[in-house]
Amino acid sequence: MKKAIVIGSGFSSLSASCYLAKAGFAVEIFEKNSTVGGRARQLVKDGFTFDIGPSWYWMPDIFDKFFADFGKTTSDYYQLDKLSPAYKIFFSDDIITIGDCMEKICDEFERIESGSSSHLKSFIHKAQENYDIAINKVVLRPGLSPMELVTKETVLRVDQFFKTISQEVRKRFKNPKLISTLEFPVLFLGAKPSKTPSFYSFMNFADFGLGTWHPRGGMYEIIKAMRSLAEELGVKIHTDSAVDKILVQDGKVQGISSKGLNHEADVVISGADYHHSETLLDAQYRQYSESYWEKKTYAPSSLLFYVGFDKKLKNIEHHNLFFDTDFEKHAEEIYDEPQWPSEPLFYVNFPSVTDESMAPRDCETGFFLVPIAPGLEDTPQLRAQYFDIVLDRFEELTGQEVKKSIIFKESFCVNDFVEQYNSYKGNAYGMANTLRQTAFLRPNLKSSKVRNLFFTGQLTVPGPGVPPSLISGKLVSELVIKEN
Ligand SMILES: Cc1cc2nc3c(=O)[nH]c(=O)nc-3n(C[C@H](O)[C@H](O)[C@H](O)COP(=O)(O)OP(=O)(O)OC[C@H]3O[C@@H](n4cnc5c(N)ncnc54)[C@H](O)[C@@H]3O)c2cc1C
Repeated sequence: MKKAIVIGSGFSSLSASCYLAKAGFAVEIFEKNSTVGGRARQLVKDGFTFDIGPSWYWMPDIFDKFFADFGKTTSDYYQLDKLSPAYKIFFSDDIITIGDCMEKICDEFERIESGSSSHLKSFIHKAQENYDIAINKVVLRPGLSPMELVTKETVLRVDQFFKTISQEVRKRFKNPKLISTLEFPVLFLGAKPSKTPSFYSFMNFADFGLGTWHPRGGMYEIIKAMRSLAEELGVKIHTDSAVDKILVQDGKVQGISSKGLNHEADVVISGADYHHSETLLDAQYRQYSESYWEKKTYAPSSLLFYVGFDKKLKNIEHHNLFFDTDFEKHAEEIYDEPQWPSEPLFYVNFPSVTDESMAPRDCETGFFLVPIAPGLEDTPQLRAQYFDIVLDRFEELTGQEVKKSIIFKESFCVNDFVEQYNSYKGNAYGMANTLRQTAFLRPNLKSSKVRNLFFTGQLTVPGPGVPPSLISGKLVSELVIKEN
């Protein structure tokens, strides 16, 4: 039986481990932290439950396909609820509510801009076609060659790789609030909408067409499910076990070392951040230089607050976006001239609005997220300053006092991303999916310098987000199986 060692226990590592174990490999995971899940770990405090990272369950079909590959369904492990409404966006002079079906969303668009619902329907129709092509064809390829992007369908849509999502949206809609609403989903891909190809409108179909879901108990239920599945398949998991070296001899991987012990393996897959994974190799075995990493466009880092409130809050939904300030300016402060945002947009998640298991009775669990540029200075003073900015705006826009109801707050920012996940510059979501950082133009799943060394996760193919990480684990396992 061949042995595979997997570094890290995020979604991509757990996914790769399950596929390899199913194919007959003896798989062992080495995770540096004390719990599995990587960026999707959980914080439980005084009866409040927080997902530390991801909170939007989009593209339920990808999760279904993952579990189906093992003869399972998501409902074997967790209970999913479709959120209604999906989310709410606060602007300075209005609130847009995104319902759980196209009919409700069309009504809301009409309220804002007369005649916009017919444009929306045709936009989403095109987005659905792109979704089918992206998910069933493009995304399932390992990014080894430019030819993978060339299919009958993509050739017919080649213009959509050279136009941006911003241009596509602005062509159809005039109202700035509707424009921001339709530009929001591609933020998950980590780049500015004005730098993201319009083909990625498939994210708008994921949003309006497939809906927003919530696993009862929180996103960590997915990690628990994948851990159970991995263990059912025989995967051994070592936590508190940082890997300090990937061992190589004569250009072939030999295993890893962790806590002073060497562990042999036929294959090593790293699901830790790609840049860090390469630093575990001697210099001659690294594929990419420091200047390569320096020049790339990263998805944002984040300033996060996990807050326990001693009362139920008013005028909020499960997911709430605060777009009452200048979207473009904040994006420039992330990508063009990295600096702490002058007037940040932010996002707040209150899972306890729809799931009473997430907070003590008559209390609210609040997760606040401010996207920021990776690599910024991170100090307790800056965190405190931004907490005040965000809470003041939140109180004003939702029309209530909440500061006096805070039982506790925890924060997480650039320094924590570096310290907890060995993240390059403290990025939260990996490498952005711009045209020049798509498919074969991303760091490779397979090492070109070390035989049987592979990489997976949000810095490689296909990109950032939970569903892409599940796919990344599948793609890398297929390469491993093919070559062994
Ligand atoms: C705040 C935040 C919000 C997000 N929101 C969403 C969302 O709503 N929806 C969505 O789909 N996606 C979201 N994402 C993105 C999503 O969480 C990630 O894309 C995904 O979890 C990445 O998984 P991964 O396997 O690539 O990496 P990770 O989860 O980072 O896993 C890498 C693992 O490697 C471990 N590791 C690092 N170095 C070593 C070492 N030397 N030895 C051993 N182990 C090591 C780390 O501890 C970590 O456990 C969010 C991310 C963040 C941070």
